[in-house]
Amino acid sequence: MRLMVRNLDVFYGAIHALRRVTLHVDAGEIVALVGANGAGKTTMLATISGILRPRQGSVRLGERELTHLAPEAVVAAGLSHVPEGRRVFRPLSVEDNLRLGAYRRRAQRQAIAEDLERIYAMFPILRERRRQPAGTLSGGEQQMLAMGRALMARPRVLLLDEPSMGLAPLVVQEILNHIQNLRQKAGLTVLVVEQNARAALAIADRGYVLENGRIVLHGTAEELLNNHDVQRAYLGREREEACTGSGR
Ligand code: ATP
Repeated sequence: MRLMVRNLDVFYGAIHALRRVTLHVDAGEIVALVGANGAGKTTMLATISGILRPRQGSVRLGERELTHLAPEAVVAAGLSHVPEGRRVFRPLSVEDNLRLGAYRRRAQRQAIAEDLERIYAMFPILRERRRQPAGTLSGGEQQMLAMGRALMARPRVLLLDEPSMGLAPLVVQEILNHIQNLRQKAGLTVLVVEQNARAALAIADRGYVLENGRIVLHGTAEELLNNHDVQRAYLGREREEACTGSGR
């Protein structure tokens, strides 16, 4: 299902956090929105999912206008948000956290049992740990739980806010593999925001670069990974040296 964001302007009081932001994610695509701390990435996802109200602009999911819907109506329309910092309910068990993702349709017991099975098949470690308090999970496991909880709402489009944050490189890789599987096996459309541009662009089809609330660059993931400005600003030293080296 296609997500289309047009000309979003978002303010926090006098702070102009998003400036005329336009982007789209086609059905079945993984799109990365990359940018430094404070660029506006979290604001972008919070606006798409109805938590913040834009002053101007629109958000559409397929044919449906989401712009003025409440967050629960946005979820019902097929869009789920995995927040920055996972936000799992630490004292609750893994399974209860997952069940909360299906709270809107809590009467459908059979369907919920099937969905739990589906999530456990996707993330076997969550099945093993299903009776443990979520607070006892590692960071990577909590990220899987936050993704599983979002999937319990049966979304068509998934928003992921900094899924790699605070995770060791091998765990980041595991989470990225899961995101790719969500697209391949569950047919999901994904918008992922990341400071870790290299990680996000490695699994994305296309990407956008956000700076001070504006989209300053967009292209295929490959184009962005090879772009010298992106390499200098977001991909760190290693890439920059590789790039300088190959230029000689
Ligand atoms: P991070 O990676 O740190 O989450 P980000 O790219 O997600 O960064 P945002 O959190 O969206 O950036 O912040 C965008 C801008 O809006 C920043 O200048 C930030 O200081 C400001 N901002 C964010 N939340 C608020 C708020 N609740 N009140 C006022 N200003 C805010």
